[in-house]
Amino acid sequence: MALMRRILQAVAAVAALAMAAAPAQARGLIRDAEVEGVLRDMSEPILRAAGMRPDSLRLFILNDPALNAFVFDGRSMVIHTGLLRRFDDPDTITGVIAHETGHLVGGHLARRAANMDRLSLASALTMAAAIAAAAASGETQAGAAVAMGGRETLRRAFLAYSRGEEAAADQSGVDFMTRAGVNPEGLLGVLRVFQGQEVFSASRIDPYAQTHPLSSERIQLLERRVRESPAYGAPPDPAMLRRYARAQAKLDGFLERPERVLERLKLEEDPGSAPNRYRRAIALFRMAQTDAALDVLDGLLREEPDDPYYWELRGQILLESNRAADAVAPYRRAVSLVPDAPLIAGGLGRALLAAGQDAEALRTLERASRDDPGDARILRDLAIAYARAGRDGEAALATAERLALQGDFEDAGLQARRAMAQLPAGSPAWLRAQDVETLAEFERKDD
Ligand SMILES: [Zn+2]
Repeated sequence: MALMRRILQAVAAVAALAMAAAPAQARGLIRDAEVEGVLRDMSEPILRAAGMRPDSLRLFILNDPALNAFVFDGRSMVIHTGLLRRFDDPDTITGVIAHETGHLVGGHLARRAANMDRLSLASALTMAAAIAAAAASGETQAGAAVAMGGRETLRRAFLAYSRGEEAAADQSGVDFMTRAGVNPEGLLGVLRVFQGQEVFSASRIDPYAQTHPLSSERIQLLERRVRESPAYGAPPDPAMLRRYARAQAKLDGFLERPERVLERLKLEEDPGSAPNRYRRAIALFRMAQTDAALDVLDGLLREEPDDPYYWELRGQILLESNRAADAVAPYRRAVSLVPDAPLIAGGLGRALLAAGQDAEALRTLERASRDDPGDARILRDLAIAYARAGRDGEAALATAERLALQGDFEDAGLQARRAMAQLPAGSPAWLRAQDVETLAEFERKDD
């Protein structure tokens, strides 16, 4: 049934995004065109080697310091910021992606889902997301425990792979990396970090080591396979090295306490490197030292005037310093350099909205939201743009979709019904509102 399929798709998307609403603070999905682009380009050759269409994978970046990555629902992969910030070698992250892809194409999840037929799919997916987020952090008390609800059995069923599955995912991972021409030593690098954690108490073991059981046998086998791979020792791609270092700098800049970022830069061997100046610009911006931040950023822009992400950051700094009119031009420049990045287009839309250029803001935000329906900020701005244009039904729909993304199903249902009352019955927008309504009902009954 088409409706059921739509619901399930929506449920899967929402389950993934429900992590953004996970109760523990400071956890949520990171949406950033630059960082997502790096991971997408890293995973693309791996997915091709695995026989998957690259756009069939949904990649999520979860803001969580624990070292972890996991797959769920057959097409979604979650990578923690902890992992990205810990490993400086992009091949390591490619190794994690390759290993996780091995679990995906090996059907290791399907076997688990079959054990859970007593739970509705929606609650299973939502649980999976919540549980994974909960288990991810060593400190499972806090809100995470609430999400886990004592279903320890389910957690184990979901998360821990068998030794056989680990060996199969390792083997596939090495194969995929080899075919993609990436040095498979990266995969080994991850395991070596976790080696020896067996002696820790359960709460101190990284979730990745918990869910992907390590054994000396496994490592030995993998070492042999890695050495036998024709891609063994292949040098890293210099362009990827540069882009990855930038992505790391950006994550540090936005996630670390800015004072600490500046402290650590004092100890850097090369504080003037592009990634380190990027770190500094972002930290200064977060400390509200706007002019100093722009100064550092403009230095970077002089060296690389066609870098879309520098322009995007320039737009963001100006917009968030209440200089919306000045923010429009840098965002425009960024959009012209990467026209297919809806998150950057969303930034332009936000700047236009703040600058009072409502008609263009609405057009821009509509397009951005069509290309990337999973961004709460874009939906929030879109609702404002619709409301200003007097299009209240569509404003309610955008709000309903945003609330569903954030896991607030009760209010999402309310807004969806408001939207349906105002939109022409049977129109595409009305049907979307109905989908959100159905999903909200589905979630409500489930509680
Ligand atoms: Zn594994």
